[in-house]
Amino acid sequence: MKITGLTTYRVPPRWMFLKIETDAGITGWGEPVVEGRARTVETAVHELSEYLVGRDPAHINDLWHTMYRGGFYRGGPILMSAIAGIDQALWDIKGKALGVPVYELLGGLVRERMKTYSWVGGDRPHDVVDGIAARREAGFDTFKMNGTDDLGMIDSARKIAETVKRVAHIRETFGDAIEFGLDFHGRVSTPMAKVLLRELEPLRPLFVEEPVLPEHADAYRRLADQTSIPIAAGERMFSRFDFRRVFEQGGLAIAQPDLSHAGGITECVRIAAMAEAYDIALAPHCPLGPVALAACLQVDFVAHNAVLQEQSMGIHYNRGGEVLDYVVNRADFAIVDGWIKPLPKPGLGVEIDEARVIAASRDAPDWRNPVWRHPDGSIAEW
Ligand SMILES: [Mg+2]
Repeated sequence: MKITGLTTYRVPPRWMFLKIETDAGITGWGEPVVEGRARTVETAVHELSEYLVGRDPAHINDLWHTMYRGGFYRGGPILMSAIAGIDQALWDIKGKALGVPVYELLGGLVRERMKTYSWVGGDRPHDVVDGIAARREAGFDTFKMNGTDDLGMIDSARKIAETVKRVAHIRETFGDAIEFGLDFHGRVSTPMAKVLLRELEPLRPLFVEEPVLPEHADAYRRLADQTSIPIAAGERMFSRFDFRRVFEQGGLAIAQPDLSHAGGITECVRIAAMAEAYDIALAPHCPLGPVALAACLQVDFVAHNAVLQEQSMGIHYNRGGEVLDYVVNRADFAIVDGWIKPLPKPGLGVEIDEARVIAASRDAPDWRNPVWRHPDGSIAEW
């Protein structure tokens, strides 16, 4: 079998799908994207296609290393997201060619079903209690929300109190019937993270995500030494080499590689195994579309330390497109009481509605995250 071509489709709300075709008539789908930089990743995918067209798609390991090592410069969100989507599509082709789901090729299932959680609230964490109540009706008992508004490097007691009050209100309303993680989204400086973790600890969040920016990951150890709240991070780490430094420094309880950013299935299986060796749980990041979610699930179902899967059905970003809009086999993605079953179809297990993808790609908007500023006019982390 030989790869004959790569086609990319940028689609609403902010995703990109990749179709890899072969001379055997088997087609694989991937989702290479960085939110807000889709066109940049698209260019990278097409540059990397020089290494792929005419090659046997079965040689995933060699193609992966060719893309990673062949160009001298490597790593980072753009290149690793391009590789990630290509890698997903290659696994999809291999599974379809052999007639089995990808998890069968990775050694088979370690669990019967995977726990998922639901996002509530928007960019700024308001109306989360109403959001939780609505999602509980759909069966979810585990949630994630943004933990804070924008926060200055040294901010006020009032801002801290607002955050604590909001989280306390969630515990008061739902008691121990739900679990929730708080995403600090890299908005919080190390000194403010110390204060917030101490104040939030009695409210028992399931985890705090990106308590500080990944650039300051060396602070995770110090933060973990002063709090019992599990620290989660990883959506802005792009390879096992990035994760290795953080694992060695210590402090991380939950690794959150993104299957569309960290080199795809091939690399994230390695990251999962490395995390297991450090007694770190796995919870793949996935605020993206159905191919990314299908790729995450392939890893969840073979990784012993996978504990939670993010999924973006109903997330605030999904304006103009929902996760299952582009999927033919929607029933396979049914989430019952927060649990999802292994996708039964060969390859990644997602049948893409190609006509719908092509139609949606015609007027795809360029999604951008908002740019926030502090009251003094300086740039704020979003
Ligand atoms: Mg996050």
